[in-house]
Amino acid sequence: MISVASGENWDEFVAFMIEKGFAGLESMSGIPGSVGAAPIQNIGAYGHEISEVIARVRTWDRKAGAYKTFSNLECEFTYRSSIFKKNPGRYVIIDVTFQLRNGEMSMPIKYKELANYLGVELESRVLISEVRNAVLALRAAKGMLLDSKDHDTWSAGSFFVNPILSAEAAAKLPQDAPRWGQSDGRVKTSAAWLMENAGVRRGQIHNGAGVSSKHVLALVNNGQATASDIAELARSARKMVKEKFGIELEPEVQFIGITL
Ligand SMILES: Cc1cc2nc3c(=O)[nH]c(=O)nc-3n(C[C@H](O)[C@H](O)[C@H](O)COP(=O)(O)OP(=O)(O)OC[C@H]3O[C@@H](n4cnc5c(N)ncnc54)[C@H](O)[C@@H]3O)c2cc1C
Repeated sequence: MISVASGENWDEFVAFMIEKGFAGLESMSGIPGSVGAAPIQNIGAYGHEISEVIARVRTWDRKAGAYKTFSNLECEFTYRSSIFKKNPGRYVIIDVTFQLRNGEMSMPIKYKELANYLGVELESRVLISEVRNAVLALRAAKGMLLDSKDHDTWSAGSFFVNPILSAEAAAKLPQDAPRWGQSDGRVKTSAAWLMENAGVRRGQIHNGAGVSSKHVLALVNNGQATASDIAELARSARKMVKEKFGIELEPEVQFIGITL
């Protein structure tokens, strides 16, 4: 059990735990931000989410004016959401307690692209350090590792969340659309696939904003983008997906002073 103050840097914490021989965080390597922000949207990547390794979250409840500790279940984690996200501004996360496994083998590899990169079957376990290196390489190739010299990586990460559809809605998607079954019978598909197949092009420019040439879900600032440039680009991508597939993409990023 490891308790970490919310102001710590997420990826430095992940690297530190891997160095010390603790498994569970490796696939979430390279996600920018703080430890305290990580439970808010239940960060996740390459087949795993932080909710799998959180034991409890200690908060300051601004409404009650008291500390409140949430067990994992009480955090109400779902895909890119939690009780904290559903009650914006109410809970200030003070620290997060993780329950990790001591050992050098990773969590089972759940993500095809990562398994292919590592040259192993899905559900295999490999060295945690190997998973970290592979994830960092894959993220860099997609422009998902911030590089101050490369505008193509100046994004807010994935702009839209992957839509979760009813089984009937998912059945209407083209055959080759990605489909990940959920425990409640619904089906998650890929926002990136929908955008690319609706005609959103990598490298496409809109004033100072653009679609990364590395990854269609990353809307980038080419140096002089305004918030409106980014929002207009997002609106047009969302419209294209709606017209082609009838699916309304929901943003993952938060907006301040502007709406989609
Ligand atoms: C290039 C890039 C790649 C990304 N890749 C991923 C990815 O693979 N997977 C993924 O899930 N996310 C990803 N993200 C999103 C982002 O990294 C996460 O949402 C991260 O948790 C944000 O951390 P932050 O410290 O920057 O929080 P902020 O963006 O500053 O805050 C996010 C929200 O959390 C709240 N918050 C922050 N700290 C606290 C606290 N201590 N108590 C209460 N509320 C708090 C803020 O008020 C805000 O509502 C990516 C972002 C970028 C830019």
